[in-house]
Amino acid sequence: MSIQSIRLFGDPVLRTPAAPVVDFDKELRKLVKDLTDTMMDAPGAGLAAPQIGVGLRVFTYYVDDQLGHLINPDLDLSADLDEEGEEGCLSFPGLSFPTPRAIRAVAKGFNMHGEPVVLEGTDLMARCFQHETDHLDGILFIDRMDSKQRKLAMKAIREAEWSGLSAPTVKFSPHATGGRAL
Ligand SMILES: [Zn+2]
Repeated sequence: MSIQSIRLFGDPVLRTPAAPVVDFDKELRKLVKDLTDTMMDAPGAGLAAPQIGVGLRVFTYYVDDQLGHLINPDLDLSADLDEEGEEGCLSFPGLSFPTPRAIRAVAKGFNMHGEPVVLEGTDLMARCFQHETDHLDGILFIDRMDSKQRKLAMKAIREAEWSGLSAPTVKFSPHATGGRAL
């Protein structure tokens, strides 16, 4: 098991677009395992690499007893929307809000061995693919809400006990300056 800590809203990594995976190597397989273990431990229905601080286009999902992962995803979405479905996010613990999403999604990408994969999802699975792919673009579910719903969500977020916990911290390297002050 290699459970990682999940980054909370406010952490800049969640607003940073992730880079495409180029090397389908051992390190990538470890990332998929870390994401899977962390998602299952949370527990969650999906987890994207930026949520554990890794800027690569990888996510895992666990929906309707189906466990999997997708790398470098590309989505085709249905025009029909589910306007009212509740959605949560592991980076916003304990909160969920109605978030409009396409009802069906076809997700093309690769598995960790570099083989092409096509996944089709409806309802919660489609919602998961959209939510996780958004994470890879630095987009969060609050961005998908209409302005009225977003205001309600932001109020709940400000009042949440974890709010502000991920205010930027300044890290010092003990080696960078050879011990001398700048
Ligand atoms: Zn999320």
